[in-house]
Amino acid sequence: MAKVPNWQLGREMSYPYEKPAAAGKQFSAVFNINRCIACQTCTMACKSTWTFSQGQEFMWWNNVESKPYGGYPQHWDMKTLALLEEADPGGQKWDAGKKDPANAPYGVYNGLTVFEAAEQLKTGQAAIGYIPTDQEWSVPNIHEDTSTVFSAQGGQIPEHQTWFFYLQRICNHCSYPACLASCPRKAIYKREEDGIVLVDQSRCRGYRKCVEACPYKKVMYRGNTRIAEKCIACYPRVEGTDPLTEGEPMVTRCISVCVGKIRLQGWVNDEKSPINFLVHKEKVALPLYPQFGTQPNVYYIPPRWVPRQYLRQMFGPGVDEALAKYANPSHELLGVLQLFGATQKLLASYEITEDEAIGFNTSGREVVRVPIVEPVIVRPPERLNIT
Ligand code: SF4
Ligand code: SF4
Repeated sequence: MAKVPNWQLGREMSYPYEKPAAAGKQFSAVFNINRCIACQTCTMACKSTWTFSQGQEFMWWNNVESKPYGGYPQHWDMKTLALLEEADPGGQKWDAGKKDPANAPYGVYNGLTVFEAAEQLKTGQAAIGYIPTDQEWSVPNIHEDTSTVFSAQGGQIPEHQTWFFYLQRICNHCSYPACLASCPRKAIYKREEDGIVLVDQSRCRGYRKCVEACPYKKVMYRGNTRIAEKCIACYPRVEGTDPLTEGEPMVTRCISVCVGKIRLQGWVNDEKSPINFLVHKEKVALPLYPQFGTQPNVYYIPPRWVPRQYLRQMFGPGVDEALAKYANPSHELLGVLQLFGATQKLLASYEITEDEAIGFNTSGREVVRVPIVEPVIVRPPERLNIT
């Protein structure tokens, strides 16, 4: 295996290939968990666009699951964490003392990634993994709104004793995709221009190695065509080649329809992008299970009310700093948070003034301007609809 840099782990790691694509720009998104209402509008927008055909009935490229018990496929994260634990008992630890703002913002991960575990166990595979059962794929919203058990001990605000939260999931268009690494046909590739990870359907022979290897279980097998399919990041919209976009790059379907305005899309590796600000500068948005080692490119602002230990396992040791920043936001962060869901255009850069947040498209043209503090409008007495 090659040695590649993984900034989320704060170290180099083993990966079957040299960097799969020197992405000029990297497709990326931030999801603010605190704002999601689990309406599933994103889920249905994706389904009605891409997976409405025969053979795709159980295929949900976007799903929103209730944590800690829900999951699509069921138990996907617990099962991968258990495999890592089996490979290296007690080893999934971070060294916070080795923090370095540029190269190791969360410290250094000392445990094994899915690639390193496969290497250590001499599995002959690119990554450890498993193929979910049909039963596990069949109940996409199992345990919706199911909370942890009631505790009579009370809570320590902001952490609640009884809690659940919604986790919005799409393919992470990883920098080191396990799906790509595992494919014996080299049917999966990462585009140089935007880092989007795609399956070449003419090369795929349905071996399901990608389904097995993706730790997020975001590649799905279609029984009637016998090939793998996955989220394509609505690439015609991102390119501006979809007729609806009139030539201008736009955000994906799931991001554009979001009722809670929890989603923002952009280029994580471009200094001017609001995503770069949230991930690299403010460090308020964190990767999902960074310890898996794929360097995922969807980031999350963690939920404020959930016990920290659970969040640290899910988002790594950056959780405490992220929540401290979110609870006491800077003026710039407040402004960037207002840009979430403010436009369907893909924002390449932004500007925050004293009272407004301004977004610019990929040609540098202003496409949205919103107030940082929304005005409060009080109905005059003659307009009241209750008396
Ligand atoms: S549309 Fe937005 S608010 Fe509704 S479930 Fe999806 S992410 Fe959550
Ligand atoms: S989330 Fe899974 S399917 Fe998507 S790029 Fe990463 S490894 Fe591949």
